[in-house]
Amino acid sequence: MDLNFTEAEEAFRAEARAWLEANVPTGLPSGDTRQGFDLHVEWEKKLFEARWSVVSWPKEYGGRGASLWEWLIFEEEYYRAGGPQRVTQNGIFLLAPTIFEFGTDEQKARFLPAMAAADDLWCQGWSEPDAGSDLAGIKSRAARDDERGGWVLNGQKTWTTRGAFCNWVFGLFRTDPDAARHSGMTYLMVPLDAPGVTVRGVERLDGDEGFAEVFFDDVFVGDDLVLGGVNEGWAVAMATTSSERGLTLRSPGRFCAAADRLVDLWKRRSALAAIGDLAAVGAGDPALRDDVAQSWMEAEAYRLATLADVSGLVEGRSQGARSSLTKIFWSELDVRLHETALRLLGPTAELIDDAPGAVDGGAWMKGYEFSLSGPIYAGTNEIQRNVVAERVLGLPRK
Ligand SMILES: Cc1cc2nc3c(=O)[nH]c(=O)nc-3n(C[C@H](O)[C@H](O)[C@H](O)COP(=O)(O)OP(=O)(O)OC[C@H]3O[C@@H](n4cnc5c(N)ncnc54)[C@H](O)[C@@H]3O)c2cc1C
Repeated sequence: MDLNFTEAEEAFRAEARAWLEANVPTGLPSGDTRQGFDLHVEWEKKLFEARWSVVSWPKEYGGRGASLWEWLIFEEEYYRAGGPQRVTQNGIFLLAPTIFEFGTDEQKARFLPAMAAADDLWCQGWSEPDAGSDLAGIKSRAARDDERGGWVLNGQKTWTTRGAFCNWVFGLFRTDPDAARHSGMTYLMVPLDAPGVTVRGVERLDGDEGFAEVFFDDVFVGDDLVLGGVNEGWAVAMATTSSERGLTLRSPGRFCAAADRLVDLWKRRSALAAIGDLAAVGAGDPALRDDVAQSWMEAEAYRLATLADVSGLVEGRSQGARSSLTKIFWSELDVRLHETALRLLGPTAELIDDAPGAVDGGAWMKGYEFSLSGPIYAGTNEIQRNVVAERVLGLPRK
């Protein structure tokens, strides 16, 4: 096994690092608030102008035609430089791979460049009030309108991340109510300013308006907004969810950078503990030092496992149901890492924003609260364990 990158890849890394170090913004407010979201979009546009927003896409759609290896390198450098969360992620990391696989040439030309440039901002519409884990239980429907050449949508989606700030939603709608549960659904792309769409922002646990409910009342969309075949939406949706669980949404760079920050936090806290600072005294506990090392090793293990996955992908082997294993791993490592940070901080962890004594602006508490949602979104970890049992290990259903 050769874990070294080529000279050309190292040159790519150096170029990315230099640009990111000079341009990554600091101190952006949360992208899950209206004002924060707009500032994040400004940053995304800057990334696009310098052709760093979608490095692995073909040049004609705004990318650099970079290899999967180079994409991984870019991600490492992005998070190493302290780059903020990508508010375009639902488009560029989830919908785009699905458009590349199932979209028509017209759809590619229409949607990909606008997504890369952060002009079109996408959210995902899967979950409904009575359909979360059981996605095939969705009730939102699309009725055929032959006269206008399209579909009339009715129903409701929920838990739509950043739905209140985006201008497009993609998701599944039932087009054949008589078909079996996993059939009769169609994948549609819907402009959120279409007549009949109502978007209502919903506050999350941390107070940010990160969610929305989206209501459809006789909303018309043309046939050009169907992705993949009519009544074939399930297979198309599975391609999107596999991207969400697998490689593209959560590259190891993000966790490696968090693990490095945790080691740095441990150094700072234990230095304070060594001089008897009462607020940091718990940080001297050797068990905490072991947990910090454990988190760092888990992030490194995820990085190495991803290199193995990418080797497989480059050789034409798809990740398939293994993306469920990946999802369990990154989501649970993220929770443990943040729990360790909170234990290092002790009561100080509760101090956030500009409260006197807050460490790193309270970012660890914010990160912890978000990490708790990792085992839920992208399909809960209970469901992923079912998938691993049945489809990776081949165990019987009962
Ligand atoms: C931060 C965050 C962002 C999200 N963003 C989006 C988004 O942008 N778009 C979107 O459509 N949705 C989004 N969701 C919703 C998410 O996809 C659902 O919450 C998730 O799929 C679970 O569905 P549910 O909440 O209805 O829970 P339920 O499906 O009701 O599950 C409740 C509990 O029962 C367990 N359970 C259910 N069925 C089984 C089973 N067969 N075997 C074992 N255990 C089971 C689950 O694991 C869970 O613990 C988001 C959620 C979060 C937390």
